[in-house]
Amino acid sequence: MPRSTIARIDLQALRDNFALAQKLAGSARAMAVVKADGYGHGIRQVALALAEMAPKYAVACLEEALAIRDAGLRQPVVLLQGVHEEGDLSGCLAHGFEPVLHSQAQLKWLECCGDRPDFWLKVNSGMNRLGFRPAELPDVMAAIDAMGARPRLLGFVTHFACADDPSSTRTAEQTECFVQGTAAWPELMRSVGNSAAHFLPGQPLFDWSRPGIMLYGGSPSVGKIGPELGLKPVMTLEAPLISTRIVKAGEAVGYGSAWVAEQDTPMGMVAIGYGDGYPRHAGTDTPAAVGGQRIRLIGRVSMDMLAVDLTNAPDARPGDRVELWGETVGVDEVATCAGTISYELMTGITARVPREYR
Ligand SMILES: *Cc1c(COP(=O)(O)O)cnc(C)c1O
Repeated sequence: MPRSTIARIDLQALRDNFALAQKLAGSARAMAVVKADGYGHGIRQVALALAEMAPKYAVACLEEALAIRDAGLRQPVVLLQGVHEEGDLSGCLAHGFEPVLHSQAQLKWLECCGDRPDFWLKVNSGMNRLGFRPAELPDVMAAIDAMGARPRLLGFVTHFACADDPSSTRTAEQTECFVQGTAAWPELMRSVGNSAAHFLPGQPLFDWSRPGIMLYGGSPSVGKIGPELGLKPVMTLEAPLISTRIVKAGEAVGYGSAWVAEQDTPMGMVAIGYGDGYPRHAGTDTPAAVGGQRIRLIGRVSMDMLAVDLTNAPDARPGDRVELWGETVGVDEVATCAGTISYELMTGITARVPREYR
């Protein structure tokens, strides 16, 4: 019998979240961002589940895009980091992948490449990770014209640094910088906007938005949890209770004896730990649930197990399923307790945890 530690994936919730993204995108079309193995949900199953709805997918790299083709899907796939070597460009053409080129080195490869794929240009409007500054664009465009690649250029992409914070003025500044910097080429398409930008009132998303985390039910906005934004949880992380006991007042639980019972306390051990990707930084009081009843973690998370306080669920027995996050406990709540974001939790679930699809 396999251990029943499992990530249940609700593909209908995924589709509902995509429908919300497309609705919020208004006249822009939404490309489904499925990088990092579909944010830990399984790129193949996620891409297949969205096949009827998503006009385009986006991933970080070529290997991820190939997984979409392996699933038999024919939509264009945007490579958000472009390519890592010249030879990859011909692969892009063969497979219908659209690299986002962000550097002079990538432009050189494009110049040398015989058969060029459709591509995008990354504009650095203030994130300062990747891309050409607006002031560089006239020269970049001249170089593209000179190499005869202009017919393959789809448009401009930029990425926001602070869209998760509605009170920040940076998103408006970046938008203005992007609009002005690309104004000379109105015939080309524009793509801005991660999930967070979909929730900013009045934020233009131009031709293509790029929702990622919201498809999986995670909140992209600081201080909000997914359900508050109308998002449905897609992943339910579950593990069995494998032992229960009463810890007596004064006894400690787990490594470092980090938690000491103030009174006799019913507790249980759950078969999941950081070896499964559950965050070790989630300390005492991080929520979990059993039978729909909220309980809390106590002590340190081990590699293969963690301890919970069963005071709120005195009838819980070994074999019962504990929800680490899902319907009852939001993944965003656990992320906050662990000092991180839902992105890291979802993408961090390890291969030891089977994904089960519904
Ligand atoms: C990952 C990524 C996205 C999606 O971001 P979310 O915050 O998950 O919606 C969009 N655009 C780019 C360039 C990305 O790298």
